[in-house]
Amino acid sequence: MKEKTTKYIFVTGGILSGVGKGITAASLGSVLKARGFLVSIQKCDQYLNVDAGTLNPAEHGEVFVTNDGAETDLDLGHYERFLDTDLTQSSSLMTGRVLKNIIDAERAGKYLGKTVQVVPHVTRYIQDAIIACGKGSDVHIVEIGGTVGDIEGLHFIEAIRELGIRVGRENCLYAHVVYIPYLGASKEFKTKPAQHAVLTLRSLGIVPELLVARSEAKPPQKIIQKLSLFGGVSEDGIALLPNAKTVYEVPLTLEKEGAVDFVVKRLGLKGKKANLKDIRWVARRATATFAKTIHIGIVAKYLDNEDTYMSVVEALKSACWKHGVNLSYTWVDAEEITKQNALDMLHEYDGILVPGGFGSRGIEGKIAAADYAIHQKIPYLGLCLGMQVAVIAAARMIGLADANSLEFDKKTTNPVIHIMEGQHDKLETGGTMRLGSYECHIAAGSLAEKLYAAPKIFERHRHRYEFNNDYREVLSDAGLVISGTSPDNKLVEIIEIAKHPFFIAAQFHPEFTARPTRPNPLFDGFISILKKRAK
Ligand code: GLN
Repeated sequence: MKEKTTKYIFVTGGILSGVGKGITAASLGSVLKARGFLVSIQKCDQYLNVDAGTLNPAEHGEVFVTNDGAETDLDLGHYERFLDTDLTQSSSLMTGRVLKNIIDAERAGKYLGKTVQVVPHVTRYIQDAIIACGKGSDVHIVEIGGTVGDIEGLHFIEAIRELGIRVGRENCLYAHVVYIPYLGASKEFKTKPAQHAVLTLRSLGIVPELLVARSEAKPPQKIIQKLSLFGGVSEDGIALLPNAKTVYEVPLTLEKEGAVDFVVKRLGLKGKKANLKDIRWVARRATATFAKTIHIGIVAKYLDNEDTYMSVVEALKSACWKHGVNLSYTWVDAEEITKQNALDMLHEYDGILVPGGFGSRGIEGKIAAADYAIHQKIPYLGLCLGMQVAVIAAARMIGLADANSLEFDKKTTNPVIHIMEGQHDKLETGGTMRLGSYECHIAAGSLAEKLYAAPKIFERHRHRYEFNNDYREVLSDAGLVISGTSPDNKLVEIIEIAKHPFFIAAQFHPEFTARPTRPNPLFDGFISILKKRAK
């Protein structure tokens, strides 16, 4: 059988980063999928890190985790949510991984006396990784991180240029995301930066055919002619993308702007009429105002960058859309909370959420927040570290005054959270955690069973420390319910507090499997109870 020809869409960005390349790539994918195409997607990142696992979330945003345990850039989260698909390691390619594998091969004698060079070896490696990831798809979308012209991104740009020749220009489309600033003084939109962005890309041998022009407000339609003339891109290959009320409107805007028709025609794809039902539902829900609003306090330590907990917020949103409530959330600084002021600081929230985290900063505040939720019977959802602090709070309640995690207190006499023997040998280095999707068995009669409606589930992990089994009995006797464990019953995966309206916490990260049209069951249950209690 003849192998199917995969078509490639490369998404690059000019002038400045952070204008929505990831959302553009994800949105293109979602509308192409809606037209019946098999779509795959991949991100190339310039960093010399081997993966995103060691990047600081406060600077770089959330580390997203795939089923197969890849620690990736948060754009993969957008991709999974927009395309409603599960991705793997192959969808995340960082320069560090490319170079590491090439240098390892060189040391192993694979290049036999040859000089090893950026061209052809690095660029060839990247192309092979792109082709492998796109194999079997109708359309493979590749987002190149950073901005065209960056020294550190040149190997990716050169690789996709060469790939155009390798697989045939008719099978490739280069899309460039540019920015159109608005000058308040003269009240005009300026296209010069975009023109230069196109020039820079052309100087590297790539002629873009689709221009996605981002702007704060909607520019006049005539800007399209100007961009076309000076950018050398046909008018039907230009899509204006002013700031949207929600990123979930972007797929519809691309469709409306004709960008999708243009892509399909240019790549010679034959698809069905787009089924935009789900995309429209999400865009409508994301912009709707409902009768009830629920207020959630998210107790965390990274507070100045929304991207740090991207998937948590998106998971909350998707559950709110399902239940038709407005979401209001406040980042509460964990470092400010104490057992004494917890009531004061947290009483205005309908529910408390403690997300994942590493390191001891703010830990006592998170424990105090869990303690507050237990005592005041306030709905609580704990994610990973949010489960560990709940266990510590429960242990301290029964008189184990110095209960702690060995991560935060190496000398505690009650290490209710510890590292299991043989589980992790190396500490604080890359790629040594329990990562990715693992099976979890759910206890009959538990809240978890009610929420998941299944005896066995799979969820994604990213942690090093575990519930210490020596404390199972005392804590269970005191009202802590162990409602989820690994299939061999060795690892505690979910805990609950008995006789509480809603207190559930998981060692895994349920936020990574939440999708706009399908909230994760734990978030679903959390929002559902908050809606019932809301006035
Ligand atoms: N720091 C904790 C651990 O390593 C929790 C990790 C997390 O919340 N992702 O186990």
